[in-house]
Order: sequence, then structure tokens, then C-alpha cells
Amino acid sequence: MKEFVLTADYHTHTKYSDGNGSIEDNVKEAVNKGLNEIGITEHGFNHVKAGVKRSQIPEMRAEINRLQKIYPNIKIYLGVEANLLNLKGELDITEDDIKSLDYIIFGIHKATYGKRIRGSLWFNFRNLFPTSKKYKQKVTDSYIKAMEKYPIKIVVHPNYATKCDVKRLADACAKNDVLFELNGKRIMFDDAEIEALKNSNAKFVLSSDSHYPERVGTIELQKEFIKKYNFPLEKIVNIKISN
Ligand SMILES: [Zn+2]
Ligand SMILES: [Zn+2]
Repeated sequence: MKEFVLTADYHTHTKYSDGNGSIEDNVKEAVNKGLNEIGITEHGFNHVKAGVKRSQIPEMRAEINRLQKIYPNIKIYLGVEANLLNLKGELDITEDDIKSLDYIIFGIHKATYGKRIRGSLWFNFRNLFPTSKKYKQKVTDSYIKAMEKYPIKIVVHPNYATKCDVKRLADACAKNDVLFELNGKRIMFDDAEIEALKNSNAKFVLSSDSHYPERVGTIELQKEFIKKYNFPLEKIVNIKISN
């Protein structure tokens, strides 16, 4: 297999949600690892345990502006890891959020506050249990609706919390110009799904989903996955192939 290095980590957490370090800790580690770009993407506003507060966004932006001057060789972004809230494909972000952030990544998490209590309790409840074929397609529809409704950069850890139709999701990523994430903590695909991903037109992104500064830019799980399944490197957007 060809060797490669990571060039960007677009999905990292800090103390502003459930991470353990500061924004600067993540940036320093990204610089140490030789990355050109790093994104701070806290859990979205409706995440029950760890959602970042809207009132903290200006402070985070100011900090990133300060750090950008100190670390000019790396581009620092402020994003958010938004939550898919329901089967309508609604996310916990507003027009104003979209304007104040550099990009949006999104996925399903186990417990979120919904737009309406009943709907969200049901959605969270369903996501805890193995899903029927029919529900899996509904979930996939809602992922796709979200991609069509919001300017999304990345769909994160597909199949986590609830199963989706991975092939359809990858096709929708290709169509809507959304990157499909191979997550540093959770790669949850069976052999048929991996085959479908290898043959899809989607573009992929490797991210650490780091909650500890030292894990920023860490892609051990993905390296193993890529090697084991001979995953095509040319489909991955944030690596540099070295030979
Ligand atoms: Zn997540
Ligand atoms: Zn995350």
C-alpha cells in the first residue's frame, strides 16, 4: 500500500463541548502533526450532554482569530457538529449559525433535544434499538433531506446510533457535494457496505473526532481500515500520498 499523511482534521472537540483541551491545545497538536488545516467542531446546540452554547460562539471566534495570528501556517476553522433531530431532516442550526460558522458537519447522536418534545423523544428512543429495514430507509431519507436543506461539508460517523442505507447515503453525498466521513473512533460498516463505498462516487474525509488534544490528527483506525479493505486512496480528500 502507498504511504500517506493527513493534511487536515476537520472534526475535533475541546472543552467547549465534551473535549478535554483548549482550542489552542488542538491547534498546537495539529501543527505538531504537520497539518495544514484544523477545524473545531463542538457538539451541536441540542446535544443533551455536551451541546455548545450559542452564546459561546463569539468567544470561540475571537479565540480562533487570536490563534490564527500566532499560528499563521495552519488554517483554523470554526464549525459545529450538528445533530439530525428528526425524520424530516431538521438539524439544530439556524440561518444565523450558518452565517457565523465556517462549515457544518452533521450526524446522529443518541440523545438530543428536538424541536418538539414528542418527536424528539421518539427519535432518540428509536435510535437506541436495532432498526427495521423500513426505519433504516426513513433514517437515510432524513440524512438526505438534511443534505438538501443545509450547506453541509461532512456527514459524520454513518451507522452510529442508528443504521442507515450506506450505499444510498454515499450516492447522496456524491450528488450533494458532501464528504463522507471515515471516523477515528467509529467505522461501522459490514463487508457489503464497504464494497459499496469503494465503488461509490462519493469523496471521503478522515477525521479524528478527537476529544483529547493529543488525539488531534490521529487516524490509526482509518489506516487499519484502508489497509485491510484496500480502500482507494484517491477517494480521500485530506491526505497526501507520499510514494
Ligand atoms: Zn459525533
Ligand atoms: Zn464529534
